[in-house]
Amino acid sequence: KSTCRMCHGVCGVLVRIKDGKVVEVTGDPDCPTNLGYICPKGKASVEFLYHPDRLKYPQKRIGARGENKWQRISWDEALDTIAEKLLKFKRESGAESVATIIGTGRPQLPMYMRFSNCFGTPNHLSIINNCYFPRIVASRMTSGKFHVCDYYGFGGVTPKLILNWGCNIVGSGAADGMCGYQVTRTLKNGAKLIVIDPRKIPLAAQADQWLQIRPGTDDALVLAMLNVIISEELYDKDFVNKWTVGFDELA
Ligand code: SF4
Repeated sequence: KSTCRMCHGVCGVLVRIKDGKVVEVTGDPDCPTNLGYICPKGKASVEFLYHPDRLKYPQKRIGARGENKWQRISWDEALDTIAEKLLKFKRESGAESVATIIGTGRPQLPMYMRFSNCFGTPNHLSIINNCYFPRIVASRMTSGKFHVCDYYGFGGVTPKLILNWGCNIVGSGAADGMCGYQVTRTLKNGAKLIVIDPRKIPLAAQADQWLQIRPGTDDALVLAMLNVIISEELYDKDFVNKWTVGFDELA
């Protein structure tokens, strides 16, 4: 038993091993989030290990850029070459002249941040800077927690309406552990769907309503919705009184 980290979904998987080699990865039916489901990317994770083109050692470019000529070098040589260049930039222009960039967050993220920190540059960035972290920060600041949807009704209530806003969840995989298959299953159980997106994402074709707003007008739409909800008193007053602050200022 293991978990897939090919995306944020962290689906439970069963890894079948034969003669010391991974031969198959399948969905774990006992995992409460994916219930046995596995997507093509998860299934293909075996290739991460054994694909002949997998990069397993450092290579140095020996031809002109774009010529695709490489020479295998040792880890020591690779580390020395990189260290020499980084220290040269630091000496000549200061540590902050170096910016480090990484892709979407995986378990190596803290090490990469620590490296930037030890090197002395605050200029480290990744997709998380304009995508994942703002969501976490905004969520924690407004409700103290990073919420995810209970699509399966573990809390006793299955969603009757899904509002999918600016997230291509079925077309491009997972967001925050929420995966397209969870949405698809919930829709099969009869939930209604509203999609808000300037693009006709795959989910828009299934939507009861697709609101094709202009890019950058999300705030206007959400403020208009708040205006209707508050002025027509469509909100849960007991909840607001008990659990929120700043409602009068908002209204
Ligand atoms: S949705 Fe696919 S890639 Fe993502 S964790 Fe699940 S099996 Fe892996």
